[in-house]
Amino acid sequence: MKEKLYNIPINDAVNAGQECPFCFIERQIEQDLMDFVLGSGSSYMESDVREKTDKAGFCRAHFKKMFDYGNTLGNAWIMKTHMKYTIEQANKAFERYKPTANGIGAILKKSDSRAANSITEWVNGQEKSCFICAGFTDHYDRYMKTFFEMYEKDSDFRDRLSSSKGFCLPHFSDILDYAGNHIPEKKQQAFVDTFIPLMKSRLEELYGDVSWLIEKFDYRNKDADWKNSKDALQNCMQKLKGGYPADPVYKMKK
Ligand SMILES: [Zn+2]
Ligand SMILES: [Zn+2]
Repeated sequence: MKEKLYNIPINDAVNAGQECPFCFIERQIEQDLMDFVLGSGSSYMESDVREKTDKAGFCRAHFKKMFDYGNTLGNAWIMKTHMKYTIEQANKAFERYKPTANGIGAILKKSDSRAANSITEWVNGQEKSCFICAGFTDHYDRYMKTFFEMYEKDSDFRDRLSSSKGFCLPHFSDILDYAGNHIPEKKQQAFVDTFIPLMKSRLEELYGDVSWLIEKFDYRNKDADWKNSKDALQNCMQKLKGGYPADPVYKMKK
């Protein structure tokens, strides 16, 4: 039964026939979590939920999505106790703060893993923490593994994938990371031989689509067919970085 929890969303995502099934799943989880945290079920009034959101906080992208979602009172409740928690943590970091020789350098180079000082260390940790992002990453491993189980067992699933548009590059990179451990060695080459050409040809198609989009702005082409160029920008953006740039704002259901 537990298996179905993962199989069904993967099937739905592949059947949707879009740029990337894992982006599709990610969006579904994100919207479910927004509804859960901020929606009409008012989970934000439950202390165990708020304890989690207080600690985890939210990333910049999800703060924006929560703001746009449209539940001001719910957002304010979540924010109030998250602020309180944050102030307590901030005060601890402020008290431990000492200027260090490499302090400024490490702040400018955010990639520098050396903890420059107590404040930088704490803020960097917070930057990586988000209740909604974690809701996806907590299940991501299981989704990836189930994806490979389905690929192994289900020839219809394999056929649908091999005639799909492939994946976005970030999710494709994760798939290749998993493939090494989740596909029997003798089948690995066949996997690579299916998906690398698929990715190559989809990238070329998208290049063609965005090129044609530019041509369509030439008055001589004003009556020509759009072909697949109308969605070319958002499709290219998704293919390169994942996500859905053209999605409307996700709002609270009234
Ligand atoms: Zn993706
Ligand atoms: Zn996030």
